[in-house]
Amino acid sequence: MKDSLIVVCGAGGFIGGHLVGDLLKQGYTRIRAVDIKPLERWYQQWDGVENLGSVDLKELPSCRRAVNGASWIYNLAADMGGMGFIENNRALCMLSVLINTHLLQSAREADVSRFFYASSACVYSHDKQTDPKMTGLKEADAYPGMPEDGYGWEKLFSERMCRHFTEDFKLVTRVARYHNVYGPMGTYDGGREKAPAAICRKVIEAKLSGKHEINIWGSGEQTRSFMYIDDCIKGSQEIMRSETIDFPINLGSSEKVSVNQLVDIVEGIAEIQLKRSYNLDAPKGVNGRNSDNTLIRGMLGWEPSIPLRAGMEKTYAWIYDQIKSGKSKCSVAAYLQN
Ligand code: NAD
Repeated sequence: MKDSLIVVCGAGGFIGGHLVGDLLKQGYTRIRAVDIKPLERWYQQWDGVENLGSVDLKELPSCRRAVNGASWIYNLAADMGGMGFIENNRALCMLSVLINTHLLQSAREADVSRFFYASSACVYSHDKQTDPKMTGLKEADAYPGMPEDGYGWEKLFSERMCRHFTEDFKLVTRVARYHNVYGPMGTYDGGREKAPAAICRKVIEAKLSGKHEINIWGSGEQTRSFMYIDDCIKGSQEIMRSETIDFPINLGSSEKVSVNQLVDIVEGIAEIQLKRSYNLDAPKGVNGRNSDNTLIRGMLGWEPSIPLRAGMEKTYAWIYDQIKSGKSKCSVAAYLQN
């Protein structure tokens, strides 16, 4: 297996870049990394890998080229971001359906042996997420379908297409429903950043500027869980390798916190206390979301377990260095929108 060709789509992004690094570390010798961004805008670029930049996987011929000779494909490519992006760019999010559709078609033609799709907790029905005190979303809670508008519908539809490519065409597919992934080498500015990175950035800016204030989207009472990138990379590969997980499964932490508690954690790391204001009109997503890990624990004997505080310390330190050295990543968002 270590000499078979593994293709990572979306490799110029946050999770894809970490996955390529981890595959290399494990001794995989043939890796092809693909992304729409030109190489100089990738978050991570690894030596010893066939790096294909400026490849638009919404197009079928590009997908055929990308998967040629592949044994396994990880599809982590999507036009996405945090709530601020997905609530205001529903059509763009839905167009990612072309990426997964054309990748599946190409994978089938190329006789690929395994295909991974990165789905999301945004597939879960809205009415299961109205209460901040909710305990956790079970896989069955995705139906009857009323997911996040735009982004969530695309994810649910693409999950479904994976299932039917398996049933009708015998292409082995694996689907993980990621719950908020965070860590170093991700987006922290430019409009696509998610809550953990956005809060780190705001706290760092307050610390550096001496203006000890923070504006929080929503009431701060909304709850979420956040999975550190190392757990995401391990879990994705375990799910991909599994012979039995042939259905969409949660991959997320079950350590639920409110946004206010997340701010407490970052303030603790930064050793600062900020005056909080709340923007109730800003995009804030559902009131309560957490990952029910009963299924993944039963199937893998494992679940994401890196504590939020430990992961946030590493994330904060990386974003702090980036901001201090002026290495902004927001050019990525600008590139995709043009
Ligand atoms: P990311 O934005 O950092 O990476 C996605 C990459 O896909 C980007 O580098 C982007 O340039 C690339 N891409 C977009 N359109 C493309 C196209 N047409 N052709 C080729 N490449 C294209 O995001 P991420 O956080 O690494 O997310 C990876 C996957 O995981 C996505 O499918 C995302 O929806 C899913 N996911 C992520 C999270 C999270 O919290 N990060 C949560 C749930 C699901």
